[in-house]
Amino acid sequence: MMGDGFFLPSTNGSGNKDSPKKTITTKKKKKRGGTKKKMTIEQTSAYKSVREWVFLGQSVAVLDDDFGVQWSRGKEKLVFELHSHSTCSDGFLSPTKLVERAHQNGVKVLSLTDHDTMSGIPEALEAARRFGIKIIPGVEISTIFSPRESGSEEPVHILAYYSSCGPARCEELEKFLADIRDGRFLRAKNMISKLNKLKLPLKWEHVARIAGKDVAPGRLHVARALVEAGHVENLKQAFARYLYDGGPAYSTGSEPAAEKTVQLICETGGVAVLAHPWALKNPVAIIRKLKEAGLHGIEVYRSDGKLAVYSDLADAYDLVKLGGSDYHGRGGNSESDMGSVSLPVLAVHEFLKVAQPIWFSAIRHILENYVKDPSDSKLELILKFGKTRVSKGVPPLNSGNDLVNQCLSSWLTIEERQNAELEAIKLKLFQISIGQGDTQIPK
Ligand SMILES: [Zn+2]
Ligand SMILES: [Zn+2]
Repeated sequence: MMGDGFFLPSTNGSGNKDSPKKTITTKKKKKRGGTKKKMTIEQTSAYKSVREWVFLGQSVAVLDDDFGVQWSRGKEKLVFELHSHSTCSDGFLSPTKLVERAHQNGVKVLSLTDHDTMSGIPEALEAARRFGIKIIPGVEISTIFSPRESGSEEPVHILAYYSSCGPARCEELEKFLADIRDGRFLRAKNMISKLNKLKLPLKWEHVARIAGKDVAPGRLHVARALVEAGHVENLKQAFARYLYDGGPAYSTGSEPAAEKTVQLICETGGVAVLAHPWALKNPVAIIRKLKEAGLHGIEVYRSDGKLAVYSDLADAYDLVKLGGSDYHGRGGNSESDMGSVSLPVLAVHEFLKVAQPIWFSAIRHILENYVKDPSDSKLELILKFGKTRVSKGVPPLNSGNDLVNQCLSSWLTIEERQNAELEAIKLKLFQISIGQGDTQIPK
């Protein structure tokens, strides 16, 4: 449903919110000394651990307990935004503008999760450095779930969260995503031809122009073209009349199987999370199958609160509970803003507890491969997602050891960096000279 980015009111699940939470903006309006609850010991310790990870490698003054425990206060809140889109897929803001908006809304950790592409991550990283925002390299993958027993196929979106070194076996993932993007071109053309048959003339060039150069078109781009051509009044109408799942102008692309996608995310060192399960017709069967394939979490939180049905499902299948705004920058009242989803500190803590060992072993794997084959192209891949590059004020990278120390200080805890196996890799990296001669550190 939300698929390529348009939210239609959900019929299943939305009536099941418990403890509805206001968005951050409304919270600020609360009177001082209002209803702020004291944190439990568990929350306080989770907060400390999350905060430590968020500010890794940053020379923040000693964490002050008096302020540190005030997770529920706007000022000290560590806002995680784990689901957002830019112009690299069907969002309206460039990665830079998106990061700026995240900063304005107090986001401290941002994941850019464009549909089937990670091409916006380097630009987001560059912008995020100015604000001290931490970027989790992400992607939202379009897949299809085909039940073996009864029921019909349905589209499923799966979020993948990677480390600062990006995916392991990067080329394999890139090929996987490129195939999906190719399918999207075909799919958009199918949708246009269906619309034309419905006597709604629309040109491929029009949709392609809206999508932008090299951007794989999605339903939202087709919907915008329909509005511009005057066939519908607004985006909502375009979806409600023609483009909804199974609608008269709907078409599937060449999406991979959802289970296979989850497996690939696991194999490439990512954390796999089911996006907006409330959009699914058959969430229980899908969650059960995807859990078997290695799924780590599901979205449960939205800006209007936690959905009890999916929270219970997460508990039943031992899955991490996450959520994000799915911000596209469309504007209008119906859209949740960046950072508007209130993730409880315990949920973020659980996420990091699952993610950190996955990311650590991915980083180790990537660095081991680099030691075996210290080529410029491998280094570029690592630095594409890493925070470090040679720039003013940063000492030049003289050896692979510097790479580890600079690149990973913002990502791995001190204990992780002192891990014996990583130490052994660092010893080898120490002997590799980089950042000299032919090696160009990517900008
Ligand atoms: Zn989606
Ligand atoms: Zn999305």
